[in-house]
Formats: sequence, C-alpha cells, structure tokens
Amino acid sequence: MAKHQFQTEIGQLLKLMTHSLYSNKEIFIRELVSNSSDALDKFNYLSLTDDTFKSDDWSGKVFIKLDKEDNSLTIGDNGIGMNEQDLMDHLGTIAKSGTKAFMENLTGDAKKDSNLIGQFGVGFYSVFMVADQVDVISKKAGEDQAYMFSTDGTGEYEVKPVTKEAHGTVIYIKLKDDEKEFLDKWRTQEIVKKYSNHIAYPIMMNYSEEETEGEGDDAVTKMVNKTEQVNAATALWTLSKTELKKEDYVEFYKTIGHDSEEPLAYLHNRVEGAQEFTTLFYIPKTAPMDMYRQDYTPGVKLYVKRVFITDDDKELLPPYLRFVKGIIDSEDLPLNVSRELLQENKILANIKQNATKKILQAIKKLKDDEAETFVTQYNRIMKEGIYIDNVNKELLLDIVKYKSSTEDGLVSFESYVSRGDSEKKEIYYITGEDEKVLRNSPLLEAYKKANIEVLIMDDKEVDSIVTPMIGTYKEWALKDITAIDAPDSKTEEEKEEVAKEFKSLTDKIKEVLGEEVKEVKTSTRLTSSPSCVIKDASDPMAGMAAMFAQMGQEMPEAALILEINPDHEMIKKLDNLEDKALFNDLSWILLDSAKLSEGIEPKDKGAFASRVASLATKVL
Ligand code: ADP
Repeated sequence: MAKHQFQTEIGQLLKLMTHSLYSNKEIFIRELVSNSSDALDKFNYLSLTDDTFKSDDWSGKVFIKLDKEDNSLTIGDNGIGMNEQDLMDHLGTIAKSGTKAFMENLTGDAKKDSNLIGQFGVGFYSVFMVADQVDVISKKAGEDQAYMFSTDGTGEYEVKPVTKEAHGTVIYIKLKDDEKEFLDKWRTQEIVKKYSNHIAYPIMMNYSEEETEGEGDDAVTKMVNKTEQVNAATALWTLSKTELKKEDYVEFYKTIGHDSEEPLAYLHNRVEGAQEFTTLFYIPKTAPMDMYRQDYTPGVKLYVKRVFITDDDKELLPPYLRFVKGIIDSEDLPLNVSRELLQENKILANIKQNATKKILQAIKKLKDDEAETFVTQYNRIMKEGIYIDNVNKELLLDIVKYKSSTEDGLVSFESYVSRGDSEKKEIYYITGEDEKVLRNSPLLEAYKKANIEVLIMDDKEVDSIVTPMIGTYKEWALKDITAIDAPDSKTEEEKEEVAKEFKSLTDKIKEVLGEEVKEVKTSTRLTSSPSCVIKDASDPMAGMAAMFAQMGQEMPEAALILEINPDHEMIKKLDNLEDKALFNDLSWILLDSAKLSEGIEPKDKGAFASRVASLATKVL
C-alpha cells in the first residue's frame, strides 16, 4: 500500500474550492458525470475501431447510487478506466495548463479568487466540497489489475490494488454530515436532469424508497430498491433546434465547458448535402484563462457519427478561435480516421472553413451588451485572426474595434467610414503603446484642427504589426498618420515658400543632429507643439514590421524626419539665435521631446536631462 502526498497546489485548490463554491456544491455531480461521459466516449471509440476491445454487448452507462444508511453517494461508469499511473497522474497531480494558469492567477483576495474559480473547470476535485472520504476504484480497459485511489482530501492519498470485474471507474463518496440533501432522490434527480440531461449515455439512478402495500390495518411498509434512468440520454447536438430551449443549450454548455457562467452566444447548425455534419459552438462569456498560453486546452470535440474521436486537436478551428467550445460531428469521416492525419483531411478542412465562417458571422451579429462583452474579451485575438486569415479578413474587420480621437469608447471600421470623407475614402490611425501619449501626440494636432477622426491603436505589439497589413477596408485605404502628410489648407507654393524661408534654420539643425534624423523640414501639421517626428514613408523598413515579427525579431527603428513648427515662438526665435552652444542644446531638445511625445526614447537620456536642467538654470 503506497501513500502519496498531493501536490501542494492541489491542497491550495481544495481549500479554496471548499470556501468559494459552497453555495453551488451541486456542481460536483455535473463534473463527475461529465468525466464519466468522457470515459465512455473514449471506450466507445476503442470498441468500434480496435478489435481487442470489440464487444457485442457493451453499452455505455453512468450509474449513481444513493445510500442513505451508509450516508454515501456512488457515481460510476463502464468507460475506459484508469490504471495505477493514470490515477496518480490525473487525480494526484495538476498537469493541465488551465489549472496551473488558474493557480498562478490567484490573488489571495478571497473575493476575487472566488470569481476566478467560477470561470474555471473545477473537475474531479469539486467532490471534496461534499465529501469526507473518496475512494476511486478503477480498472483500465484491456488491463487485468484494478486499483483504488483513496483520500480524505486533506493532504495525502493512497493507491492500492483491488479486485473489480469490469473496466471502468466507480467513485465512492462518503458524504459530510451536513450534505445529506444529495441522498434525496428528487434533489439529485433534479441536478442530473439540469446539467446532464443531454449527455449521450443513460444515467441510471439506484435508490431505496419506502413503499406501503395493503390498506388500513393490513398495511405493510417496506424498503424497496429501485433503479431508473433519469436523463434523456440523447446527445444534445443531434436534436433539432426546434426541440431545444435556451436552457438546454446553456446547461449542456456548463457540462462540456466546465463553466459556471452562461455562454455569451451559441450556434447550432446542421449541414446537409454533399457533406453532412453538425456543429454546436459556444462562445464563453469570459475568455478561457489559458487562451494566451502555448499549451492551451482546445475546446472543440470531434465526433464521427456520434462517436467521440478526439478533444485535443488544436486544428479543428483556426488558432484565433481557440476560445470557442463545442462539438463537430461528421457523417462522412471514417471512424478510424487517423488522428495524426486529420490535418490533411479534405472533409475536415471543409468543415473547418464552414465552421469558421459561421462563428464569425455569429460574432458579427452580436448586439449591445453582448457585443461589448465580446470586444473586451476577444478584440485582441480577433486581430490575430486578421493577421493569419486572409479568407475571412472582411468578416474580421467588421468585428474588431478601436479607440478613436473623436468618439467615446470603441469604434468599428464600419462606423468610422459612416462618419468619414466618402470622397477621399481614407481611414487614419496612429499606433503606439500608451493611449495618453497617442492622444497627446503633436501629429494629431492637424487632424484635430481639421476635425478628422483618427483611430488610436494602443495595443502596440499587435496593432503596429497587424494594421499595416490590412491595406483597405471596403475600398477605404488605411493610413498611418505618422507616415503621411497631414491635412492642411496650404497650397504647394505656400509650403515651398515657408520651407525656403526656414531653409537656413532647418539646415543648421540637421547639421547638429547629423545621422540621428534623415531630414529636418518645416511642418504644416503642428499647431501648439514646436516640433514632431514622423516616420519616413519611403524607408523600405517602414512596411516590414510584420516580417520582422514573423521572424521573431525586434524591428530596427525606422528612419525619422524631424518637422518644426514655423509658427511657433520658439522656432522663430531659434532662427535668430547667436549663442551656438544654446542652439545645439535646443536642437537636441526639439528632437528628443518630439520623440518622447511619440513614446520613443531619446538616444541619450542622460544628455537630454542635463540639457533641460542647464536650460532651466539659464531661464532662472
Ligand atoms: P478534467 O475532466 O477537466 O480533465 P478532472 O480533474 O475532472 O479534470 O479529471 C482529471 C482526469 O482524470 C481526466 O482528464 C481523466 O483523464 C481522468 N478521469 C477522471 N474521471 C474519470 C473517469 N470516470 N474515468 C476515466 N478517467 C477519469
């Protein structure tokens, strides 16, 4: 008999769960039934594809036994089962990235943590909210020895060999004294119906009930043992939409998605014709915690004619839809389709294409609060989509939203276009990492003055790479305002005039700054700032951000052009300045402060600071 220590994280998790989920303890039944259903799915697949497991009389079932005398509840199945190693790996350690991510996200603040746990699939461990003692007796299909995993959920567990006839798992739960409600037939039936009505296997409930025979003085009351099926046992997605109510979809989601929240949206489609398949997809209200982790758990399960094939294929949907949960059930794929070759399968590629479109269309249709929730959770991952999915670019561009220089909240390209200049057909944007810096950028001044809307894209890592790739939205060209001429009312001649007038000054500044800038010129885009920097649009590097990102490299800084404001007091005075040293300092300050306004660091921060200090001293 071997005693083992639970991983410390499990101890933490158990404690947290007991305190946070106490008002919703019933979900332990949902979680255990869902595990049984998965185990039945896995055996079903084997029995249909692998000769060693073929059996004529196997039919998958979940068993629930209520024993009032013993104060215990047992949940079992005749599914795939677990061997000794599985028991230790799956129940004794936290292996899943989602769980780990969850633990990392804990704050120690009980209230915040209980919100977190709501979004997190608690799984097997939820049983400890109601149990004093748990024995998991399991025999793996195809193996001879059965094992029992026992624990009281405090710190240690034990695994030992036991005898068990059939493959599958039985979980014996000794209930805490104040959890007797789960032995009430009506109560437990109600819970099972609520969450597990539409799992694909029958759930058989066994209980004892008093029954009275005869009447009057002859009446005899005795305990009768009964077994009955409590769920509908039809896979939800095989039913027609008209038979199903919103609650049916929602509870099914909670079971397969291990989520306590209702989904934000769901879509159920049956495609008939040359190819037949059914899809049922859900968008969680809160983005899965492991969404941005390399080892995220995919949310979509693949079935072939109701037979479960896989739940760990990351290619069933494009990667930017990895937050979607649900089911794909194909009528055309062969049952023994090799999981390794799924990627190359044409039938599946077609399903994927269809599913992607349907999901994006459903997202596009979200309204009001739902649309808002979607954007707060998934805006960024949709931009990832723009980057990789050229086929669905149009749809994706109708989904993403951005901050705006003229509107509150977030705006779509569609709404920008509805306000924009329909002759010019241009969408202006600026990218950077700090919203405040962007909003105060001198480059925006001319647009503010001309009352032209500019999209403020402050998710730098993503926007600076994705947006230049967009090119156009419905014939409207996207323009980075840091690389184009600003709107103004001056003619070319007038501009040349000004440039000529200040030529000696711009030449002198360029001489001071040397290779730090590509050019120094007079600006028409500034009102209140003395200077600004813009990117050199003719620099071949400017358009290559995406390529560098793809190679996983930092982008080299693009060449900058310094523009000075000919109407600004400082510039006018600078032109007449005799003091050479001061002219030098001011030239550098013009450049460095313009850079800072765009969130670019001065080349020599120390020198910048000391120049500002010496200037201040002079003024005082
Ligand atoms: P999850 O179900 O989200 O993976 P759980 O903690 O509920 O997380 O379960 C951990 C693992 O234990 C499962 O992934 C599965 O491999 C195994 N397991 C749990 N219950 C059963 C069961 N009834 N039959 C076979 N394996 C099971």
